[in-house]
Amino acid sequence: MSIASFYRDTGDRPAISFELFPPKTEKGKAAMFGHLERLLDFQPRFITCTYGAGGSTRDKTLEIVSEVKRRYNVPVASHLTLVDATQDDLRDYLAAAQRDQVDYIVALRGDPPSGRSFFQAAPGGLRYANELVALIQNEFPEFGIAVAGYPETHQESTSPDDDLINLKRKVDAGAEIVITQLFYDNEDFYRFRERCDNIGIDVPIVPGILPALSLKQVKKITRLCGSRLPEEFENRFNQHPDDASWQRQVGIEQSAHQVEDLIKHGVPGLHFYVLNKSESTTAILDSLDSLGHLSV
Ligand SMILES: Cc1cc2nc3c(=O)[nH]c(=O)nc-3n(C[C@H](O)[C@H](O)[C@H](O)COP(=O)(O)OP(=O)(O)OC[C@H]3O[C@@H](n4cnc5c(N)ncnc54)[C@H](O)[C@@H]3O)c2cc1C
Repeated sequence: MSIASFYRDTGDRPAISFELFPPKTEKGKAAMFGHLERLLDFQPRFITCTYGAGGSTRDKTLEIVSEVKRRYNVPVASHLTLVDATQDDLRDYLAAAQRDQVDYIVALRGDPPSGRSFFQAAPGGLRYANELVALIQNEFPEFGIAVAGYPETHQESTSPDDDLINLKRKVDAGAEIVITQLFYDNEDFYRFRERCDNIGIDVPIVPGILPALSLKQVKKITRLCGSRLPEEFENRFNQHPDDASWQRQVGIEQSAHQVEDLIKHGVPGLHFYVLNKSESTTAILDSLDSLGHLSV
């Protein structure tokens, strides 16, 4: 099933998708579904769920995407990584996902598990995400495939050009769309999109948006994933460092401006890292809706 089709002919109404992570407890799961139900009002094209380090959330990831599909009949994508997995483990997961009628796979290498500073392929496993894309394409061709892209270049990459060549390898192997790492300066995204275009990456490039909840939170996340936090954004948070509602509002306003500008620059879609919450994303999408940018 094609995931790219969601991004065709969208005009200035981008295709929306949301990313969840597997909750650790039943209480967390119930809360997550409550938030998701609010988010479904915005008619997302698909919902994704992350896959934890070392395959630690393997069963949970499949459980969440399967349950989302069963409950709401909305297309779902499971993230899948190479960490600590043999090729047969990957095949087993893909076969189980197929049985559960998962529609798409977000094919990733994954980060090294905690305690390890660099990625190592498991014995009998794969080394890079492009190899996983090829495996899916060859053996499970009914899955549409998304991959990760890095507007500010992947942290371990030898150079921006090498990183782009590696992204092209994933697309050439069969990835239908690229979802980007979160970023806060749209100029980084526009430059990245142009460079993708120049190298012949001609699939939809979907910006990943993380509505920040506080300076503390966004500093931690950007440090982990190597994205830049613009100074003016940080300064706004610092106007009222101890006021939680101010912090959240700064995050909402920043993301609302960011996505409005992205839409003006013709992005085909928006992928929200909602972190199992709905308040900020709902506020951002309401503001887009009031500007006539959403078909809800
Ligand atoms: C949208 C999105 C979703 C994510 N979801 C998850 C998740 O669910 N679980 C999780 O653990 N992590 C997730 N991540 C994080 C991701 O796993 C890390 O960023 C990881 O470090 C790289 O994964 P990748 O798939 O981009 O790797 P790759 O594309 O394999 O690239 C990894 C590095 O190797 C280089 N490289 C790639 N191919 C080659 C090659 N053939 N030869 C030489 N060098 C090469 C690349 O330039 C890059 O520096 C996500 C990231 C994004 C953007």
